Amino acid sequence: MSSKLPLISLVIPCYNEQENIKPFLSACEMSLPVDYNYELIFVNDASTDDTYNVIKSSKISRKDMSIVQLDLARNSGKEIAVTAGLHKANGKAVVIIDADLQHPPAVIPELIRKWEQGSEVVIGVRKEDRKYAAWYKRLGGKIFYKIINKISEVPIVPYATDFRLIDRMVVDEFNKFTERNRMNRGLIDWLGFERDYVHFTPASRIHGEPSYSLTKLTGLALNSIIGMSLIPLKLAGYLGVLITIIFGLLGFLVGIEMFLFKDPWHLNIANSINLAILIIFLIGLVLMALGLAGLYIAAIHTEVTNRPLYVLRTKQRRTQQN
Ligand code: UDP
Ligand code: MG
Repeated sequence: MSSKLPLISLVIPCYNEQENIKPFLSACEMSLPVDYNYELIFVNDASTDDTYNVIKSSKISRKDMSIVQLDLARNSGKEIAVTAGLHKANGKAVVIIDADLQHPPAVIPELIRKWEQGSEVVIGVRKEDRKYAAWYKRLGGKIFYKIINKISEVPIVPYATDFRLIDRMVVDEFNKFTERNRMNRGLIDWLGFERDYVHFTPASRIHGEPSYSLTKLTGLALNSIIGMSLIPLKLAGYLGVLITIIFGLLGFLVGIEMFLFKDPWHLNIANSINLAILIIFLIGLVLMALGLAGLYIAAIHTEVTNRPLYVLRTKQRRTQQN
């Protein structure tokens, strides 16, 4: 490595990517501009295939590139893997990129160019490509962006991916986040800073299966919208709202019909039924209050738990897991 050149880090989360590491490295060797040194931080997210050894034994011919491997002790998901990589990165800028070549390394020079021009966050935006994902994933994506843009404080550009370059300053701020349920691009967007966008066509995965199944994606989406533990609590609240409205209206109508107009429709509703309506209405109110209190409890719970975000493996796994 030439000591004069500034350093750029690449953070590459890897889960069962044994076939993709080599092509990924060659693509990087081909495309990364020569004006920098590079550290390629592979975060092995407890892969069950040979990813660890493939990374360990990787050779690169370029003198300005070095490889670092972080080995997570348990599969923690891409968001946490990327977080671990960002904590480790030393570069003046950090590029977050998938290992499966769906984020083409050939786009990195463009990211760097925009960063050199002064942008502090350069975001890769996927050109919508029908081949890229199954219809239900695309539909899910559409709905997700609709919802998140409704509730989010910061606008989120649809098809913005987490293939992005962030400046050292942004990394330092990012590293101060302590929340466990995290969606990195949401957090990065939340930080603000100077943004720019680069449009790219995603390649399709050549090796291996995308490990984000529909359920995992749904989980991630829910996670970023409200946080897992909130769903049941919110349901109680919603049920409360529903019950309150229905039985409030019912009580109101019965009240008018029976007591104001003296039962013109001859409904002949018994007092016990009136009592039941009143009680169910009150139950609705209680459920609503419960849902509201639950929201606060869940928020406190998330903050208080404060477990370590990830556990780093310090010795190589001895047995091959399968
Ligand atoms: N990944 C990870 N941990 C996981 C699942 C995925 O680090 O538990 C990595 C994976 O190796 C890849 C990136 O996250 O580099 C994106 O995963 P994938 O290609 O499965 O998702 P998609 O392309 O559908 O977003
Ligand atoms: Mg992928």
